Amino acid sequence: MKIKTEQISLPILKDKEINLYIKRLDLVHQHVSGNKWYKLKYNIIEAKSQLKDTLLTFGGAYSNHLAATSFAAKLNGFKSIGIIRGEKNHQLNPTLIFAKSNGMDLHYLSRSDYRKKHTEELILKLNKKFGDFYLIPEGGLNAQAIQGASEILEKNDVQDFICCAVGTGATMTGIINSSSANQNIIGFPVVKDFERLENIVKEYSNKRNFKFINNYLCGGYAKITNKLVDFIVDFNIIHKIPLDAVYTGKMMMGILDLVNKDYFPKRSNILVIHSGGLQGNQGMNNRFGLNLPHDF
Ligand SMILES: *Cc1c(COP(=O)(O)O)cnc(C)c1O
Repeated sequence: MKIKTEQISLPILKDKEINLYIKRLDLVHQHVSGNKWYKLKYNIIEAKSQLKDTLLTFGGAYSNHLAATSFAAKLNGFKSIGIIRGEKNHQLNPTLIFAKSNGMDLHYLSRSDYRKKHTEELILKLNKKFGDFYLIPEGGLNAQAIQGASEILEKNDVQDFICCAVGTGATMTGIINSSSANQNIIGFPVVKDFERLENIVKEYSNKRNFKFINNYLCGGYAKITNKLVDFIVDFNIIHKIPLDAVYTGKMMMGILDLVNKDYFPKRSNILVIHSGGLQGNQGMNNRFGLNLPHDF
């Protein structure tokens, strides 16, 4: 698959003699957006080969993974079950309306039960309730996801630095595995458990050419600041590239800050992976009265 890559032009980049490119995985598919398309690819193939007819997965109420899985299931003729963290709200948010419209059967788990989501005990309970299913872990972190993510980098992606947003670490791990040893993979976590992330990436990757940059979280997972919102809105006006508020917006703000602070050597070539996730902006707009770019 040839994915569109665009060069970003800005005075600061010219000043610092840095070439910044963005790889638009957000354009891969309207509803199985960004890295989720890659992470689901081999899970779908595996579920078919195991002759399963149902996909079951977990997520928060605004989860890009849940939205993408619901559509991928429909597209491939699977039934789907979404196990949602927390209590049911009587009004569904746009993510859950979308998942439901794809036929996803939504069930809610209290936060304390949700914490047990990957235990044998809970999975047996789910089997009793729903019968047989193909399980995709929360956020889609498994070997199939990593295999899919290793197809994100293509032959021409030879830049010195590859930047990606990190949730579970599956995408970053896949990217590391298919990178060449002289490239530097830089992960921008959106959750605070840095040590756990680093351990996951170390365990499943085949190289050590990576680094995490941990100070662009804007306060934590799915937290937003005025500065972030303004950055995303302005970025979309200037470059016509929509970024999301949970992952890619924070990463891009971080990258430009690092450019400004001379983190990257002169004449560096940087590739930013736009991992999609724009459906989440709609929920942010509804909750906080914002005007973030979104895709539906
Ligand atoms: C899910 C998601 C990520 C995180 O991917 P992981 O493989 O879980 O690290 C990054 N960016 C976007 C837009 C996402 O939706």
